[in-house]
Amino acid sequence: MKIGFIGLGLMGQPMAGHLLKAGYELHVHDVVAASKQALVDLGAVECIDNKAVAEASDIIITMVPDTPDVQAALFSDDGVAAGLSPGKIVVDMSSISPTATTGFAERIEALGCFYLDAPVSGGPFGAINAALTIMVGGPQETFDKVLPVFEAMGKTVTLIGNRNGDGQVAKVANQIIVGITVEAVAEALLFASKAGADPQIVRQALMGGAANSIILENHGGRMLDRNFEPGFRAELQQKDLNLAMQSARELGLFLPAASAAHDMYNATRANGMDKDDHTSVLRVLESMANHQTSDGKKS
Ligand code: NAD
Repeated sequence: MKIGFIGLGLMGQPMAGHLLKAGYELHVHDVVAASKQALVDLGAVECIDNKAVAEASDIIITMVPDTPDVQAALFSDDGVAAGLSPGKIVVDMSSISPTATTGFAERIEALGCFYLDAPVSGGPFGAINAALTIMVGGPQETFDKVLPVFEAMGKTVTLIGNRNGDGQVAKVANQIIVGITVEAVAEALLFASKAGADPQIVRQALMGGAANSIILENHGGRMLDRNFEPGFRAELQQKDLNLAMQSARELGLFLPAASAAHDMYNATRANGMDKDDHTSVLRVLESMANHQTSDGKKS
């Protein structure tokens, strides 16, 4: 089985590496040429564009930032669709719009090919350790064919539903929880600190109780270490909550906490922190707190 991998960033690089280690012949492309070198050194075949990846591969995986990036990777003149022949499988593992996904899948299927949406959770740590959670939407038969490939990159692989877009729906739900929880941890640690307690000790104590979470442990630790290296960029978190807001509008849903968290990630962007880790919401909260005088009034 020949596999193509498009998008070799923080996540794609280690994910593609696991496919090489599993013995697959791997064809790679990234618009940033330098991103390909590490995988080429490990034995991957470098392609000049995404069309060439599709021509050389049976399964083509995309792992790019946002919906317009997937659209460009698939449907530009030198894109995947231009290099497909019937029977090939396209797997988008990026986190993008569920609605746009349905349209992308229809266009790929019209070429006699198959499509899965398979976004992931677990971050660079999960990608490096082949421990990702993978949420898949699409036909069972196609899922069964790609399952060994998913298992080389992830620990928990779930077919969410047979409709394309179902995987992306699950990922948006995941990001509602992650986005709100990162914001909640930032608020709690700032509160503890401003109220005069040691936030390191508070975090340790809370980790033994009902408020514990992976986010309190990992993200909370990074906040207290003042380590805002991405990780997961604030602009990607903002993008994901934007998808939640768009879906809520389409469905006529009221999601007040997701909406408030979305605004906080908008604020990271407004403060020039969009390329930093999403834990930067803490610094946005701090900047607001620093604008208060000791009697609590705005300076
Ligand atoms: P990234 O920006 O580090 O990597 C994306 C790569 O795609 C870049 O190297 C970029 O040059 C390349 N690219 C963009 N457009 C392209 C195109 N048309 N053709 C070829 N290459 C193209 O992003 P990332 O952190 O690896 O995230 C990728 C996706 O995974 C995003 O949708 C993100 O939301 C999702 N995700 C990220 C994390 C995380 O913690 N970083 C966790 C889960 C899911």
